[in-house]
Amino acid sequence: MTTVVDVVVIGAGFAGLRALYTFRAMGLSVAVLEAADDIGGVWYHNQYPGARCDVESFDYSYRFSPELEQEWRWSERYATQPEILRYINHVADRFYLRGDVSLNTRVARATLDADEATWSVEAEDGRCWSADRVVLAMGQLSTPKQTRYTDQDRFAGRILSSAQWPKEPIDFAGKRVAIIGTGSSGVQMTPVIAKTAAQLTVFQRTANYSIPAANAPVSDEEDAAVKVRYRERRESARNSPSGLGFVPDARAAIEVPEVEREAAFEAAWNRLGFGFALTFKDILLDQASNDTASAFIKRKIAEQVDDPAIRAKLIPGDFPFGTRRPSVDSGYFQAFNRDNVALVDISETPIEAFTERGIRTTDAEHPFDIVIYATGFDAFTGSLLKPEIVGRDGLSLREKWSAGPVSFLGIAIHDFPNLFVLVGPGSPSLLSNVLLSTEEQVDWLADLFTYADAHGIDAIEATAEAERDWVEHVNARAEETLYLKTPSYYLGAEMPGKPRVFMPYSGGVRGYRRILEKTAASGYQGFELRGRARAAVA
Ligand code: NAP
Repeated sequence: MTTVVDVVVIGAGFAGLRALYTFRAMGLSVAVLEAADDIGGVWYHNQYPGARCDVESFDYSYRFSPELEQEWRWSERYATQPEILRYINHVADRFYLRGDVSLNTRVARATLDADEATWSVEAEDGRCWSADRVVLAMGQLSTPKQTRYTDQDRFAGRILSSAQWPKEPIDFAGKRVAIIGTGSSGVQMTPVIAKTAAQLTVFQRTANYSIPAANAPVSDEEDAAVKVRYRERRESARNSPSGLGFVPDARAAIEVPEVEREAAFEAAWNRLGFGFALTFKDILLDQASNDTASAFIKRKIAEQVDDPAIRAKLIPGDFPFGTRRPSVDSGYFQAFNRDNVALVDISETPIEAFTERGIRTTDAEHPFDIVIYATGFDAFTGSLLKPEIVGRDGLSLREKWSAGPVSFLGIAIHDFPNLFVLVGPGSPSLLSNVLLSTEEQVDWLADLFTYADAHGIDAIEATAEAERDWVEHVNARAEETLYLKTPSYYLGAEMPGKPRVFMPYSGGVRGYRRILEKTAASGYQGFELRGRARAAVA
């Protein structure tokens, strides 16, 4: 039996639930298909100790309901994963979203029908949906890398993954624990696990920059002050470069007198977390300006670590700050001052294999009870390319994107009419406050659907020309930045064999929104809009 709906949304994380809320409010029937056994997306799967958001809670929350904004009380400046998951569940209950979500429903395939307007969507268990529109809301960091070392199965202890954390509590007391990977996940869990484990060893391949979170409880006064001016706060976030509400000093860092520049960095270091990159306008654009920020952070990292040998290993190498996603930490570097925490630099002494007792590097065998992989994700495209998505003339999305993702506005793909992507490659996505970008795109899509329905349009498709132009624009904006200087997951460098293409749009959320607005105002130039007779109607 096939369930017929107006819109199928794939994924029930922040993006999928927001899409459901909005499209349903327009009177559309919506089916949200979620592979997991509960809602929440990455915030459901990444339940590792220490997981928290590094965008401020007041900004990493939905803006669509002023009532929700007023009711919800964030307890900390940077919310923990359990608190965020409680928030998502609260939203789902408050807006009666669960009824339209099918859990345990992994989409195997979505195929464009012969009418080139509707889609057939099939789950792995054979259930089918037919929809006029399909919205991909599977997340950018939701397909974990399947890291495996030689002889891993011989290991007698337990192996965990930060991105597929078990739902039962894990007791580290008295245990010898390894963490492999020092991205945000490894950096967040290190100081927390260090507190209870007998021994913690962190295996680092690349030292990265990290800024202190300066986390703190949200006082009643602060809560009230934010809530009284919430609309203003949302507007300034929308009009800031990355949706965090920080507006950089308009001067080039290098042009500012040293004493003044250092004072600005010091203030940002003590308060801004991720926003440190926005202290001056050109930190991610100009090498000399970036050098000043990189040198400041390296000095700060050094000050936090007592042991000179460990300190040297923790200081990032010769790449510009921010070109690999920096972490925002709560005591990461200080954790290495504890007697029970060790650092193994696997760029010097690589892991050769697991043994029955633990991990063998080129110079030693390290015994463990628990090994945790925090080795990251197949970013941006991993989840989008998991199901078989088949557009016009049997063309699959995997074939279409074989040399890297192409789209118009990051949202629509030529040859895949009525298929839309939320916060995917080609949009500000991971270079922005993802939740803000999600809401911008959902609202814009809602307007597009309303326009299409009012004009008798059944098929919305990006033109090949608009797609080509957008890809060129995304690349041109990236070339203005320092991002291309460093292999990172922004560039597809995290997976062997992945096309090296700069994935997100680096023109900022405000610039991006203006382009979206202009596109809408032009009657959706760049799209071919077809009516029932398959003639272009707009
Ligand atoms: P990640 O940033 O990609 O870091 C993965 C780490 O694992 C890197 O240190 C990497 O080393 C290492 N690694 C990868 N493969 C390895 C291998 N085969 N052997 C040894 N080491 C290996 O992943 P993540 O820490 O899960 O974070 C991913 C992203 O999720 C973050 O950048 C952030 O956007 C998001 N996130 C956000 C939060 C938050 O909001 N606070 C928390 C967690 C994650 P190399 O650098 O050498 O590749």
